[in-house]
Amino acid sequence: SKLVIAIDGYSSCGKSTVAKDLAKLLNIIFIDSGAMYRCVTLYALENGMINSDKIDEDKLKSALNNISISFKFEAATKTNETYLNGELVESKIRSLEVSSHVSSISAIGFVRKKMVELQQKMGETESIVMDGRDIGTVVFPNADLKLFMTASPEIRAERRFKEFQEKNENISFDEVLENVKSRDHIDETREESPLKKADDAVVLDNGKIGKEEQLNFIVEELKK
Ligand code: C5P
Repeated sequence: SKLVIAIDGYSSCGKSTVAKDLAKLLNIIFIDSGAMYRCVTLYALENGMINSDKIDEDKLKSALNNISISFKFEAATKTNETYLNGELVESKIRSLEVSSHVSSISAIGFVRKKMVELQQKMGETESIVMDGRDIGTVVFPNADLKLFMTASPEIRAERRFKEFQEKNENISFDEVLENVKSRDHIDETREESPLKKADDAVVLDNGKIGKEEQLNFIVEELKK
């Protein structure tokens, strides 16, 4: 039967790693909902809708219907590719520029409404594991399993920092830590579906246990 798994939590605490592992293990679809907000942000940046931190909401609102987002997930290699209007943007949407505007874009009510609609459609017909901030609370309140992942800001910034280093991006650890903390703050305090643990979500502290243990833990939870 159809299975829906929701994984929420702070930025860079390993949600997508766990989600991809699960998708592979269970042979189901993985959707990175954060990538969708990142696509909207990239689109807004590329089309001049964000000027010195001010967002042109009217322009963005009418542009939303021109934005099409799709994914190609290959379970065997756990690679996920994000496409914005047919263009592969996987690397562009991870830039610091997109990262530093995405929380403001995703705090806008009409943006969330649209993304949630698209996300719910993706889970209508097939088994799915989706990671994000509001998956267990808003997108799939009736998910079969809800996980809430945490880890300290330092551990999370360390992960992101390493990713930037691998891409030879010239960013200091402190800048990354600042970005992680500021996104958490915006995500937790925004009016529209703030990041919070669903009452029936199971907490997974990624700073404490290793990958293998996490997966075993989740598989046990699924059996319950
Ligand atoms: O998961 P990721 O860090 O790539 O998400 C980028 C940003 O998108 C988050 O910091 C958050 O502001 C926003 N987001 C959201 N709701 C989701 C997924 C992501 O608001 N379901």
